[in-house]
Amino acid sequence: MKLYNTLTRKKMEFKPISSEVRIYSCGPTVYGNAHVGNLRAYIVSDTLKRVLQHLSYKVRHVMNVTDVGHLVGDGSLGEDKLKQAARSEHKSAKQVAEEYERLFLIDMKKLNIERPSVIARATAHIPQILVLIDKLDALGYLYKLNTGIYFDTSKFKGYGELAGMSFEQLNDSLIAGARVERPSGTRNITDFAVWRFSPKEEKEMVWESRYGRGFPGWHIECSAISMEYLGNHFDIHTGGVDHIMIHHQNEIAQSESATGEKFVNFWVHNEFLKVNGRKMSKSLHNIYTLEDLGKSGISPEGYKYFVLSGHYRSIMNLTTESLQNAEKTLNGIYNFIERVSAAGTEGRIDKALEKEVNTARDRFFSWMENDMNTPEALSSMHALISAVNRRASSSRLSDKDSALIINAMVEMDSVLGLSFEKHAAIKSIAPAAMKLINEREDARAQKDFKKADRLRNELAESFGIIVEDGKDGPVWRRAT
Ligand code: AMP
Ligand code: ZN
Repeated sequence: MKLYNTLTRKKMEFKPISSEVRIYSCGPTVYGNAHVGNLRAYIVSDTLKRVLQHLSYKVRHVMNVTDVGHLVGDGSLGEDKLKQAARSEHKSAKQVAEEYERLFLIDMKKLNIERPSVIARATAHIPQILVLIDKLDALGYLYKLNTGIYFDTSKFKGYGELAGMSFEQLNDSLIAGARVERPSGTRNITDFAVWRFSPKEEKEMVWESRYGRGFPGWHIECSAISMEYLGNHFDIHTGGVDHIMIHHQNEIAQSESATGEKFVNFWVHNEFLKVNGRKMSKSLHNIYTLEDLGKSGISPEGYKYFVLSGHYRSIMNLTTESLQNAEKTLNGIYNFIERVSAAGTEGRIDKALEKEVNTARDRFFSWMENDMNTPEALSSMHALISAVNRRASSSRLSDKDSALIINAMVEMDSVLGLSFEKHAAIKSIAPAAMKLINEREDARAQKDFKKADRLRNELAESFGIIVEDGKDGPVWRRAT
């Protein structure tokens, strides 16, 4: 598989470090409902995981849940987002975090996003975070101010690499653009807190440490959690492009300074979803949740199809028209699956059609394996649909043609996650079972009835598929 790597700024052949691909995704900050922009990030990481699984890789996917430490200003100033939400909702920060984590997981399910192997809350990993801070302290990377313990970014060789800049260039550009507000006393504008001190009266979200009572910075949780579950050096790290300049740069600085090893091989960043050309933001009142889209007749699958119709490295624009088009196209695909799966008179496979289906399916996967080019992959799927429609209007599909088409569609859906199988009247059958059906037909053609009977039994026992020999050849069905 080829993947664009932000670190090298080019598409590269993906090679896993070991037999299991290890992926980390920056998870949600659970202080409010996830908006559909956030959800784009998780659709992208899930699609990547699914493509790798289709290539037969075993994947270990870890995602954190930020329930402490993410400040309102995104940098090292301002109040914790969770605490602010807790005050305005008259709840504890813990209640707020648990509620929005629950709602986030429901959205993930609605979007048919596979649950990561590990979902790790920051507040459940304070000991690991403190061990990492201790390591950095012992190595001389940290300094103390009256607001917290800070990382001196000038001490990490390579700070700025992910953004394609030298340390000086990055500092100059941040100062010039005033992109980051700066806590007083910091040595460099890029320095950030790994531990922040809490006021004495603070009762919630505070932990004792040898540095003082406080809570962790936001960046340190991702380093500590990823290293806890994936090791010091792993394959892929995902997140939105907004994290390239600061959050991910800081993760690299902390992790590599502590271990002396390379942290991540591939950095995969999704572009932003905008609304009518503008950034989604509370002040512009243009934040949409999955529930909001539902009220306008857009299903979670319709939204997912919309996301997949764009390349993950392109900015996408959410408009009513584009969402309605996506919903309509997806419903057309569902109708196609229903129609084809219900069709099929007894008969043999159409060899020309088989070739067209296989070519379209192979193209689909080669686009997917080419830096997850989902728009081109979807075009290949539509080419398959057109080929079948052309064929079906001139002559009828046999049951084997139908199974072949549904199998190809369901296989493609293993990376799209759009629930095609639910729309297939006859359930697709595993490629291994299809192979046995074909082998049995060959055995019969060669009059090797003993082998044909053995394969018939194997199909029934291993796959629950009953094969009967009709006048036009064998017909298979599922045992009920
Ligand atoms: P957050 O909850 O703010 O930590 O963000 C969760 C994920 O959503 C991160 O990977 C962000 O980079 C990503 N993200 C935030 N806004 C957008 C957006 N408008 N479009 C795409 N991804 C986004
Ligand atoms: Zn992160």
